[in-house]
Amino acid sequence: MKYAKWMKNVGEGFIGEMLRAAQNPAMISFAGGLPALDLFPTQDLQAAFQKVFEEQGNAALQYAQTAGYPELRSWVASQHQRSQRPARTAEVIITTGSQQGLSLLAQTFLDPGDTVFLETPTYLGAIQAFEGFRADFQMIPCDEEGILPDELEKALAFTTPKFLYLIPNYQNPSGRVMGLERRKELLKVSQKYGLLLVEDNPYGELRYEGEPIPHLAELGENVIYLGTFSKVLAPGLRIGYVLADEDIIMHLEQTKEGVDLHSNNLTQRAIYEYLQKDLLPDHILKLREVYNVRRKAMVESIQTYLGDRVEMKVPAGGLFLWAKLMGVNNSFDYVQDMIRQNVLYVPGALFYADGRVSNEMRLNYSCSTPEIIEEGMRRLARGLNQ
Ligand code: PMP
Repeated sequence: MKYAKWMKNVGEGFIGEMLRAAQNPAMISFAGGLPALDLFPTQDLQAAFQKVFEEQGNAALQYAQTAGYPELRSWVASQHQRSQRPARTAEVIITTGSQQGLSLLAQTFLDPGDTVFLETPTYLGAIQAFEGFRADFQMIPCDEEGILPDELEKALAFTTPKFLYLIPNYQNPSGRVMGLERRKELLKVSQKYGLLLVEDNPYGELRYEGEPIPHLAELGENVIYLGTFSKVLAPGLRIGYVLADEDIIMHLEQTKEGVDLHSNNLTQRAIYEYLQKDLLPDHILKLREVYNVRRKAMVESIQTYLGDRVEMKVPAGGLFLWAKLMGVNNSFDYVQDMIRQNVLYVPGALFYADGRVSNEMRLNYSCSTPEIIEEGMRRLARGLNQ
């Protein structure tokens, strides 16, 4: 078949193999990024959908505005500051998950061969979204707080990217957080060079330690912010949003019109209904409590079963623990042994856009109980010993 040149051979990839392996009921998968199934507010969401059906059923089933349900857009605006002032409804577009936000940004901003700057490492799904629009990537060196402003400035001397994509809170995959001072330094550099920042924040509310840090979009100019209901409510709802200058929102709207006309109208209204009941703050507290227990269980099980064979960073929030396999060259090499032991992790190499070898692995702790986490670590230790 004459597929586009950039398409890879689908079905043969590593991710497909991992997904297949994860179907095995005996498998303990630390590879996904799934929120815990048993914590979804299913009944409250059901009541919200029911109310929408009863009170606005016809309108909710009709075509709707591309930028999203106006009440939900206003709610999102009411939760955010942009450049130290309240955000406006016209600065919000509702998307089909923040993954669509990434894709719309790529389609709206990138010409083939344009460069996108990325953190090292970064979210695989962003690499995939940008790749679809033939982006070239440059990975900017990072430390435990993310992008190093000096390194960014060095890179900007040679290359003018369309934007820098980053995840300042509990980054996927590294779990790291960009501190306030670093955010300010980064904004100083981005403002000096007129660099557009794309700030992706799906995990910000899942905080287990420390105080919240203002978003880049709150602190400075020229920042596009992506949010989502996937991690605080449920990913199957597929509702996220982009906050940006009105002109950018209008361009994204034009792109979105050609992609899916609008995100699911019924779901947007049901989420708004749920939010009106003010249930979200307590729900987030519950998520923090349970995920924190699971995070601790993973840290302790790693210490018990893997000891100094693993060097890890304890994340202060989010869903992932990032660890190095000591004395190992490439964490890919052990994946088959792990599948035989019925345990899965994501090898670090997948989070680098330059195809480098990595001895790192990303482990998800949110969707396994402490008992399962412990058993998974036993298996991981056995896999390494083979
Ligand atoms: N950005 C990051 C950093 C993510 O980890 C994810 C999901 N794993 C997404 C965006 C996409 O989330 P969604 O489309 O469900 O909102």
